[in-house]
Amino acid sequence: MNKLGTHIQIWTAGWSVEEIEFAAKNAKKIGYDFLEIPVRAPETVDVDGIKSVLDKYGLQCATSFVHSLETDIASEDKQVVQKGIDLMKKALDCAKSLETIAFVGGMTSALNKYNEIRSEQGRNNAIAALAEVADYADTLGLNLNLEALNRYENNLVNSCAQAKAMCQAINRPNIRIQLDSFHMNIEEADPAQALLSANDLLGYYHVAENNRGYLGSGSIDFTAQFRSLAQINYQGPIALEVFSSVVSNPSHSGRLAVWRDVWKDSVDIASHAFDYIHSQINTAQRYKAFMKEEQYL
Ligand code: MN
Repeated sequence: MNKLGTHIQIWTAGWSVEEIEFAAKNAKKIGYDFLEIPVRAPETVDVDGIKSVLDKYGLQCATSFVHSLETDIASEDKQVVQKGIDLMKKALDCAKSLETIAFVGGMTSALNKYNEIRSEQGRNNAIAALAEVADYADTLGLNLNLEALNRYENNLVNSCAQAKAMCQAINRPNIRIQLDSFHMNIEEADPAQALLSANDLLGYYHVAENNRGYLGSGSIDFTAQFRSLAQINYQGPIALEVFSSVVSNPSHSGRLAVWRDVWKDSVDIASHAFDYIHSQINTAQRYKAFMKEEQYL
């Protein structure tokens, strides 16, 4: 059974112990299994405090990571790349201490709206950096889940095909792919087919509507995507990642262009999503069973 979680930003703007307590309490009440907590600035993460709150509510965490331009591992500047490698190792230490269930995010470069195409040298730097970081992660028993982000947030890995090519180039056993319905809606010709193509490499799945509002209220075909997950027998974590200006962190909102209150009530949107995701998983299983019986699958 997939573990279900929510991004911390659905509840609060930050990840202080008090904020995590508020998020954990509400997420647990709904039935979620984990919170997704950013570790991109590991020095700001109160590991012991957060761990004790998660334990108190019987929750786990996933940990997400992205680079800023100062630590962009796909930079052509070797010093910047080295800073990125060092920061990722610290983030992995932090994630390990939090007993993360998955280390995820658009970690292949900075989260940034680039104005130029990525150079071959930049891509090669990212590949070498991620190989080194993957080896470090392996000593901690962790995988790296590389998220394909849309073109406005990354200029290196925008699609499942590019993520798969990165995995192949990095060539380490603990590299996986993270796909996100919001980004796939922009970049993939057929998101359901992209999920099928990721297959065993899929390690994490983000759900969000095309406007990051209520699941099922927009234009994304979740039925098709959950059928794909059933078909590849995806058992990994599924996390809700919807953002609204109601929960505002200025730097986060700036990077992800969160300007509108597409939802107003954290508890309501998280409760609705929990029921919606469960329903999609159950219905996709019934679809799969029926299609097998009829020998279509
Ligand atoms: Mn995402």
